[in-house]
Amino acid sequence: MSESSERRRTITQLQQTVAALEAEVAERKRIESALRASEAQLATELADMQLIQRINSQLIEEGNFDALYQQILDAAIAVMRSDMGSMQMLYPDRNELRLLAWKGFAPASAAFWEWVRVDSGSTCGVALTTGERALAPDVETCDFMVGTEDLDFYRLSGIKAVQSTPLISRSGRLVGMISTHWREPHQPAERELRLLDVLARQAADLIERKRTDEASAHLAAIVTSADDAIVSKTLDGIVTSWNSSAERMFGYTAEEMIGKTILRIIPPDRHDEENFILASLRAGERVEHFETVRMAKDGRLLEVSLTISPVRDNSGAIIGASKIARDITERKRTEEALQEANQRMDEFLHTATHELKTPLTALQANLQLADRRLQRLLAATPDGPPRTSREALESVTQLVARNQQQVRRLTRLVNDLVDAARVQAGKLEIRSAPCDLAEIVWEAVTEQRAVRPEREIHIEHADGLEAPLRIEADADRLGQVVTNYLTNALKYSPDDRAVEVTLCMVCDGARVARVAVRDEGPGIPAQEQKRIWERGHRVAGIKPTGEGVGLGLGLYISRQIVEGHGGRVGLESAPGAGSTFWFEVPLPDGSVL
Ligand code: ADP
Repeated sequence: MSESSERRRTITQLQQTVAALEAEVAERKRIESALRASEAQLATELADMQLIQRINSQLIEEGNFDALYQQILDAAIAVMRSDMGSMQMLYPDRNELRLLAWKGFAPASAAFWEWVRVDSGSTCGVALTTGERALAPDVETCDFMVGTEDLDFYRLSGIKAVQSTPLISRSGRLVGMISTHWREPHQPAERELRLLDVLARQAADLIERKRTDEASAHLAAIVTSADDAIVSKTLDGIVTSWNSSAERMFGYTAEEMIGKTILRIIPPDRHDEENFILASLRAGERVEHFETVRMAKDGRLLEVSLTISPVRDNSGAIIGASKIARDITERKRTEEALQEANQRMDEFLHTATHELKTPLTALQANLQLADRRLQRLLAATPDGPPRTSREALESVTQLVARNQQQVRRLTRLVNDLVDAARVQAGKLEIRSAPCDLAEIVWEAVTEQRAVRPEREIHIEHADGLEAPLRIEADADRLGQVVTNYLTNALKYSPDDRAVEVTLCMVCDGARVARVAVRDEGPGIPAQEQKRIWERGHRVAGIKPTGEGVGLGLGLYISRQIVEGHGGRVGLESAPGAGSTFWFEVPLPDGSVL
């Protein structure tokens, strides 16, 4: 080979080497720049992941919901490289989205999208209808936006591209929406949308949590403010919660009861009930309106109505019971009072009928007898003037006298009934006028002496029997009270015992005149002393010595009359020691004691 051809070959080889080297350098440069690009990409991805990670850890910590919504939204704007964004929550009852957080757009647009309905021309409205992501890379060419008000507001806010991604909860429910917006037409990358989906799940969790928190807070508020005691317990009867009504009703604080057995509030003789209740619960049965008795801390027994339901865990297993206790002591008392009132009314009607019929029957019989005797007398003297024997006439007079007694008895009963009806209607009139109490008492005593001449009635006047005692009163009504006290004293004490009436003035805070009627009758037990002034109340076991039993109205009416005078009634009595019924009426100012 010639030297020149040798050199040419070498040059060619060198040239090839240089070209190869140059190509390698170019390749290296390309690889390096690709590497740099992918490093930058990696860095961005790493930054995005770190952002999501950070939000995740913030979500785990308890926090302010609004701040968390804002952070998720900021992260969405960052990963989507968008200029603006918004997050909304679905209100299922109205099927509308409500703005939770927003960034970047004009307040007027935020106000416009405060509530978004399904028929809205916005991407979020469309995503709400379809349940899938709605994307408008260019709002001007987006078919569902043409001619909508939404498009105007997109323009107003300088929005050219927008996407809305539904927030789907773990249970698969759509709970809200997250949207991002760009100032230029924009097609988001797949990777960005995948990252957004991660954020969307976080946002859905957050909304779900907020809803659960609100629901529990709502429930807790209901439980706290309920009038009924609401208590939960384990299947062994250990109390796990105790609301404030339970504290009020049973007197134990939550601290005293939680962790302790429910048997504490069950009276010992009813401990078996708890076994029955727990057995029903274990069988998954609800116990409704179970009326029973429970015991408060101070030993008081409460009538309660219980509704007890099993409490299950997420897997459906029964882990305890919730119990609602309603205090029905008052209701029971009212029911009993009603029943008692009915019973008393029945008794009253029975007695009233009997009491009214007895004198009527006697009257009828006496009148028939008197008539027959008079007929016989007339028949004995067909012509001429009657030759009646004195004996025959006396027997007729006796019948008339007996009739007068029956008429008095009837009149008293009817008057009592009429007065009781007046009191009941608030129409018992008191017509006060100046009068003499000594005279009122004297007249009443004289009348009773005439009716019961066989009885001894003493009268004692502190100022002498003749001295007047001037008061302002309804003389007839006060006479009625004295007569009632007197007839009771005569009626309930043995015939051979005297009845004593005293009249005096006393200073009992104010100056008053007092009339007292004392008898040596059976006396009245302490527990009955208040009740005898009630309408229709009669003391069991106390029987009048004469005929008839009375309607239990006299003392009730007497009390109304005396109180109508601004006075008061009273009684001193003990079984076996007789009774002193008294009343006091005010004396006019200036009366001398
Ligand atoms: P009544 O017409 O039944 O006598 P009252 O209202 O006058 O009605 O009396 C109510 C009840 O009080 C009587 O039924 C009787 O049980 C009792 N009572 C009244 N006065 C006396 C008395 N002096 N001694 C014993 N018990 C009496």
